[in-house]
Amino acid sequence: MNLSKFSHAELFSHLYIEEEVKDMPLTKEIAKKFSKSKIILIKHYKDIFNRPNQDFGVQCKSKNLILAKKDAPFLYKGSFYSDGFEFENFFYTPLVLGCLYDCQYCYLSGMYNSANSVLFVNTQDFFQALSPFLDKPTLVAISYDTDTLAIESLASLTKQWIIYAKNQPNLHLEVRTKSANFNAIKSLASSDSIVLAWTLSPQQTIDLYEHKTPSLKSRLNSIKQAIDSNWQVRICIDPIIYNKDFYSLYPPLIDEIFDAIDADKLFELTLGSFRMSSTHLKNIKKLKRSDLAFYPYDVNNNIVSYGKTKEQHILNIMLQKAMQYLPKSRIRTWQLQS
Ligand code: SF4
Repeated sequence: MNLSKFSHAELFSHLYIEEEVKDMPLTKEIAKKFSKSKIILIKHYKDIFNRPNQDFGVQCKSKNLILAKKDAPFLYKGSFYSDGFEFENFFYTPLVLGCLYDCQYCYLSGMYNSANSVLFVNTQDFFQALSPFLDKPTLVAISYDTDTLAIESLASLTKQWIIYAKNQPNLHLEVRTKSANFNAIKSLASSDSIVLAWTLSPQQTIDLYEHKTPSLKSRLNSIKQAIDSNWQVRICIDPIIYNKDFYSLYPPLIDEIFDAIDADKLFELTLGSFRMSSTHLKNIKKLKRSDLAFYPYDVNNNIVSYGKTKEQHILNIMLQKAMQYLPKSRIRTWQLQS
């Protein structure tokens, strides 16, 4: 499904706005795009977003957007489940809670009661919170519990962060996305301290498990445009889903990628098999939305995964395939620690 064809009002059925932020510039800019929609003023986003007994599956079909003010903390230490790329300071920052897309393996459905999205409009407060750390190289993942580029036409968050980072020599950004929305930032010059990271999956996995996301082909087109505009692009095949179709889907995905993309111009490829906190998986099982939740995973230290041996096998197969195109030094694998 190409969400860019839909108007903002079609993407979100209602717009809720915290009274405290109703006059902030970003709120006004976003509200203009909902001129024909119902706008509801609220006291605090948690009154809507954290309500008990919400139906995640039903809300996915018709999401609401909440504009709110974030209070501290603005930065969180990089998660155990993701790669900090050896930066001493590695943070992720929750610019938005919730995602326009609906991936069946996403931990968000096990973490939040709601499928709605909360967009924080006090961007300057995030920048201020970051500034004490910028005396040394610092990586910030700005599209972590969401996909900021997917809603770029709504709020230009990615753009604002890229512009901010250009004046901060120690600030490095990772913008992770499944969108096909490079066009939204193509007017900006590329930067060596910013990596645009696209998550790719075989088309069959997209059809089955990555609802509302753009096709593999359109993501590849977007990547190609970004590379042609000299951006550093990381391709992430993560999470790799291990099922009976793994062998026929995932190694050929690597061929498909490098048929479309010049391997010499790709910054990096990362590979990781499915993993998640067991608490989140327990919550996802209750939703009964996907067979992925019911695979007999290994559980270790509150992490569910395919287990060390299977994970090693998956990553070895993918690594060997990827090395037909890239030197090992440009391929990263995420593995369980012993
Ligand atoms: S794009 Fe990422 S954040 Fe959004 S639903 Fe999918 S996995 Fe979750």
